[in-house]
Amino acid sequence: MALIKKSRGECGLSALKHPRITNIWSKVIEDSTGSLITRVVVESTGAFEYSADKQGGRIVLAGAGVIANMPEGSIEVNDGLVREIALAQTEPGRAVVEVHAEHPCKFNVEVADGIPYRTIITLDRSYIANLFKDKTIVIDPGHGGEDPGSAGPVNLLEKNVVLLIAEILAEKLEQASARAVLTRTGDKTVAPASRFQLAAQERAGLFLGIHTHSDKNSKVSGASTRYKPASRASAALAVLVQEELLKKLRVADRGVRERPELAVPGDIPGVEVEVVTISNWVEEGLLRSPTFHKKAAEGIFNGVKNYLATFPGIKR
Ligand SMILES: [Zn+2]
Repeated sequence: MALIKKSRGECGLSALKHPRITNIWSKVIEDSTGSLITRVVVESTGAFEYSADKQGGRIVLAGAGVIANMPEGSIEVNDGLVREIALAQTEPGRAVVEVHAEHPCKFNVEVADGIPYRTIITLDRSYIANLFKDKTIVIDPGHGGEDPGSAGPVNLLEKNVVLLIAEILAEKLEQASARAVLTRTGDKTVAPASRFQLAAQERAGLFLGIHTHSDKNSKVSGASTRYKPASRASAALAVLVQEELLKKLRVADRGVRERPELAVPGDIPGVEVEVVTISNWVEEGLLRSPTFHKKAAEGIFNGVKNYLATFPGIKR
């Protein structure tokens, strides 16, 4: 579909003839150079005039002669760069789309004719790529091989599900320009000491363990993040990972606390994420969903990203 330059709205038409905004969605994709971008697409029944500018952390697209034909309010995105998109009909024939960005970014707006007509806001994600560039992150999918970890009531095994989440997380980190190293790539037995050792060997900047919680009480549910003892950096990382994980998963908050066994060497910050509680039958069900695996990985990724943005002095 050919992209055309900003088009003119038609004057003198009654409000009934105004084009309508029917849908707004966004996606993280690669541009033609292989860099990641966020694309926000405003779909409408026809062309409308707009102005676009940046106000603080918001990109404001003000459309003239256009009517919101979808619920007003906020759409949560949390893709690491765009927190949310808000739509408001500020006056008859004037609708405003606000894209809330968490980090500095450049943007541009293009339109594409067609059905639906699309007004496309593109945001560059180079700020995030720069945070992850030259960082090595060791991801440790818990258990494996002879050690199945915990099992759910319908017998989902922790070792299998944490590996799936770890693989998605590794892919996301690599996409964002980091180097991701997994402590195991298949169903293998790996001693805890060698998992931690790998972090030192690879001169990792961070160590991320992926687990699920399990409890004798089948009613217990939710996510928690534990951190390397007596490490302020690890505690800070745990708080940020937990916060972003909960935004994505919307499960109970089981909190953040020290994990004495998390013996990540040297000054490498380390956390262990208990994504949800496998012994709870509802959450075991969630853990079977590929969409849920993706959300968990996105939450952890966003937490790590916020850590790198907040503590830029981190080694490697
Ligand atoms: Zn475990």
